[in-house]
Amino acid sequence: MEFSSKLLENAVYEMSQLPGIGKRTALRLVLHLLKRPEAQTQNLSKALSKLREEVNFCTSCHNISDAELCEICASPKRDATTICVVEDIRDVMAIENTSQYRGLYHVLGGKISPMEGMGPQDLNIAPLIEKVKAGGVDELIFALSSTMEGDTTNFYIYKQLEGVGIKTSTIARGISVGDELEYADEVTLGRSILNRVPFETSIKAN
Ligand SMILES: [Zn+2]
Repeated sequence: MEFSSKLLENAVYEMSQLPGIGKRTALRLVLHLLKRPEAQTQNLSKALSKLREEVNFCTSCHNISDAELCEICASPKRDATTICVVEDIRDVMAIENTSQYRGLYHVLGGKISPMEGMGPQDLNIAPLIEKVKAGGVDELIFALSSTMEGDTTNFYIYKQLEGVGIKTSTIARGISVGDELEYADEVTLGRSILNRVPFETSIKAN
């Protein structure tokens, strides 16, 4: 792609670093911004810089939060005896949208994936184990996507908690293999949380 301006080329390059944005789309977006009032671009870049500089993670569940404890962890209306284990914040948003779940979450920040060099120590697994061992938790619900990495992660956590004597369950597999949680529709996802099955049963089924 030949550019008549180095400034334009740089902007397109940076934009094209985003996932799913090729050079052509990047150029279209950059030209679109140029056509819009200048304040719009400034608001966008300010919001992103501010997010980057000030982003905070809830000290309990590792969800993105503006306070030390996120709104969900801080709410007295939530059932603190149940923790739903998810991969990232998008899953929290998807499950919250179903309005079917009143417990807390724990955001792992990914899945165990040897292919991508992601081990248990790279995820928020240790704080989860600690939290459960500290007591007060009755049930862990695994809600990772049903891929091999998701299954491996569930099983790793399950093994770590052997002998601790808490209930572990997994969301009903109404969601087909490989589907990401965020794409499941709200009704299906809500139903699969309500109809969750004991984790032991799900291992035998595999
Ligand atoms: Zn939290």
